[in-house]
Amino acid sequence: MTTLAERYEAVKARIPAEVKLIAVSKTRSVDEIQALYDLGHRAFGENYPQELREKQPLLPADIEWHFIGHLQSNKVKYIAPFVHLVHGVDNPKLLDELNKRARANDREQDVLLQVHIAQEESKFGFTADELNELLASPTSERWSALRFRGLMGMASNTSDQEQVQREFEGLAALFHRSKYAPSVIPDQFTELSMGMSSDAELAIAAGSTMVRIGTAIFGERQ
Ligand SMILES: *Cc1c(COP(=O)(O)O)cnc(C)c1O
Repeated sequence: MTTLAERYEAVKARIPAEVKLIAVSKTRSVDEIQALYDLGHRAFGENYPQELREKQPLLPADIEWHFIGHLQSNKVKYIAPFVHLVHGVDNPKLLDELNKRARANDREQDVLLQVHIAQEESKFGFTADELNELLASPTSERWSALRFRGLMGMASNTSDQEQVQREFEGLAALFHRSKYAPSVIPDQFTELSMGMSSDAELAIAAGSTMVRIGTAIFGERQ
C-alpha cells in the first residue's frame, strides 16, 4: 500500500512545473481533501454542485475550487459565490446563468468552454463548429461578467493511444485558432484543460496547461 503523500509526489513528478495539477476530489471525504491540503496542495476539482456546496465551508478558505463536471443551469447558484474556474461550459444558456450569478455575487467568473473530442456519445461539449460560431460574434455585452479563459476536453476512454493523442492534438489546434476569435481576449485565453490519471502524459505532450487527476492521487473511487 502506498500513502497519499507517496502517490501525490509520484503524480507531481509526472507533471512539468508549468502545468497545473488539479486534484479531482469528487466522492472523497473532507478528511481526505484536508490531508492533501496539509501536504501543500490547493487546487481541487469537483463534479457535483451539491457535493461541492457541502464540502466547501468545511475546508480551508484558500482552496481554489475547480468545477469540472457537467453543470446544469439550475445548479449554478450553489457554486457561483466561490468557484474559481468552471471547466465544463457547453451551452449558451449556461453562460447566461453563470453571467447572471456572477453579477449577483459581484464577481468576475472564469470559464473554460468544453469541446466534444471523444468518439463517445456520452461526453458533453461543443462541436468545433458550434464553438467557432459561439466565438465568432462579440459577446462582451451579453456575458460581461465572464472571462473566457480557454478550452477543456476529455479524450475517448480507450487503450488506443494514437486515437487519444489525435484527439488531444485536435483540441490543442482548436485552442490556438480560437485565441484569435472576435469574442476572445487573447491574453486571457491561456488555459487548455485536458488529461486525467490515465492520459496525462499524452495531454501534456499535446500542450495541456491543466491536468485533472483523481485516482492516481487518492486511489480508486468506491
Ligand atoms: C473524474 C474526472 C477526472 C479524474 O479522473 P481520474 O481518472 O480519477 O484521474 C478528470 N476529469 C473529469 C471531467 C472527471 O469527471
